[in-house]
Amino acid sequence: MATEPKELKIVLVGHTNVGKTCIVRQATTGVFSEDSAPTLGASYVSKLTNVNGTDVRLQIWDTAGQERYKGMTPMYYRGAQTALIVYSVTDTESFESVDGWLSSLRENAEPNITLFLLANKCDCERTVSREQGVEKAKQMGAHFYEVSAKTGDGIDDVFNDIPKFFLENQTPSSTDQSTGISLNDDSGSKKEGKSCC
Ligand code: GDP
Ligand code: MG
Repeated sequence: MATEPKELKIVLVGHTNVGKTCIVRQATTGVFSEDSAPTLGASYVSKLTNVNGTDVRLQIWDTAGQERYKGMTPMYYRGAQTALIVYSVTDTESFESVDGWLSSLRENAEPNITLFLLANKCDCERTVSREQGVEKAKQMGAHFYEVSAKTGDGIDDVFNDIPKFFLENQTPSSTDQSTGISLNDDSGSKKEGKSCC
């Protein structure tokens, strides 16, 4: 008898123009388009995936980073088990805004939400170094990935690992209750070895 897939709600947050919408599109359709329209409010897409025989439905919520939508972003956090904070390696301001998104998640999201920090546009000339990203992820207790929504590099790693960590964290022994952050190893940024460029 077929069993229902497990539901996994994911929210993407971050500065406007860092490539959140392109990341979602690349992850779900394998396509990159230069002329993606700015996201209004938030949009939703679902993707069915299978991890070692377990079906997981990813419910991916793509939010808008513009100031005027900021007030409504927290309501999309509700019930999310995973959050992706995205910045662009070409945009220092977007990297500096990561702390603000982290605070917003800490205030409004589930306390044990699993955090991913994504450095996008790593196909481009960068102003934010890989080391800065690794260090930030470590401070946050987030998994770190460098990706390119344009070339697709790193995107599969992220979207394969999200359900994998989610299922691992459903085993009570692998969740560190004291910190409120789901840790898969003692550094908190186990994926710092993954890079696309
Ligand atoms: P959002 O506001 O965070 O949703 O950003 P979008 O997904 O709308 O992308 C903003 C702009 O960045 C668009 O012009 C995209 O074509 C471009 N872009 C997104 N991801 C990448 C990437 O990985 N590499 C490059 N070179 N451009 C990207
Ligand atoms: Mg968008």
